[in-house]
Amino acid sequence: MKIIDLLHRRPTLSFEIFPPKNHDGDISSIYQTIDELAKLKPDFISVTYGAGGSTTENTVEIASKIKNEYSIEAVAHLSCIDATPEQLIRVLDSLKANNIENVLALRGDYPRGYDPMKAPHYYKYASELNDFISKNYPDTFCLSGACYPEVHQEAASLEEDLIALKKKVDAGAEYLITQIFFDNNYYYRLVREARIRGINVPIIAGIMPATNSKSLLNIAKLSGCNIPYNLSASIERFKSNPQAMKEVGMNYATNQIIDLITNGVDGIHLYTMNNVETATRITNSISNILASCNRKV
Ligand code: FAD
Repeated sequence: MKIIDLLHRRPTLSFEIFPPKNHDGDISSIYQTIDELAKLKPDFISVTYGAGGSTTENTVEIASKIKNEYSIEAVAHLSCIDATPEQLIRVLDSLKANNIENVLALRGDYPRGYDPMKAPHYYKYASELNDFISKNYPDTFCLSGACYPEVHQEAASLEEDLIALKKKVDAGAEYLITQIFFDNNYYYRLVREARIRGINVPIIAGIMPATNSKSLLNIAKLSGCNIPYNLSASIERFKSNPQAMKEVGMNYATNQIIDLITNGVDGIHLYTMNNVETATRITNSISNILASCNRKV
């Protein structure tokens, strides 16, 4: 099923996972994670794609099992920076052969040591990947794209970022998933400004439970998102107590989600970081809220 059809029973609940990075190449631990996530009946699970195609086979394998063995819709992330058309065709053929109907089309993070000014490349922006897939695989995949409530770090302004976002949607992205944010006002601003510019596709909110102070500060720095005072005060107070920090992060994320659903969000995408406990506790704590939104639970 295409995610755009699931979005008609809004709000959707979905999870993001990443292929485990084990030195011996064993990724079997991810299936214990999916066993548990499946019990929460998500609308879909998305699987990330390593910078420069470093996880291609694992992304396809995991997405394929989610779809064909767990009978849950899978979204395969796919990035185009540093990719050739032949490489993209190989991945897309393989996704198609495995009945995967949904692709999150990204430019992708720059691989280590990659210099965008010097490296030869076929594709510069995600909109070009959307264009490539739409032309080569008509009516095959439901495409989606990333968007940035606090503006992408390379964009000069919100205005420029939204012009680029419109191009991505015009090239085939049927819905969008946001970068993490901890202040819902940035999400509401993005939706308002997008609608003004004729970007009318569903915008799913990406939420990351801030259960570990160190990784939270790191991710916030990398993604350029602000940490509101009340969250940073709690982090400061509880950062040396991992159990208390977990409660801070889960409760903060839960409150964000309740506010978003109250205000009509199209969907919630939990960046699980492969952490089953957090995803389970948050989902269970809003089960009645989700049930009251006409979701099939
Ligand atoms: P683009 O949409 O191409 O935008 C990149 C920059 O270029 C922006 O500043 C934009 O404003 C500008 N731009 C875009 N089009 C144009 C244009 N036509 N003209 C001028 N400027 C333009 N990374 C991974 O490597 N693997 C993953 O699995 C992954 N999953 C992600 C999932 C989500 C939900 C999100 C939000 C991000 C994810 N990322 C992933 C990170 C993402 O690849 C980076 O944020 C990357 O820097 C930008 O990707 P993009 O697809 O948004 O790029």
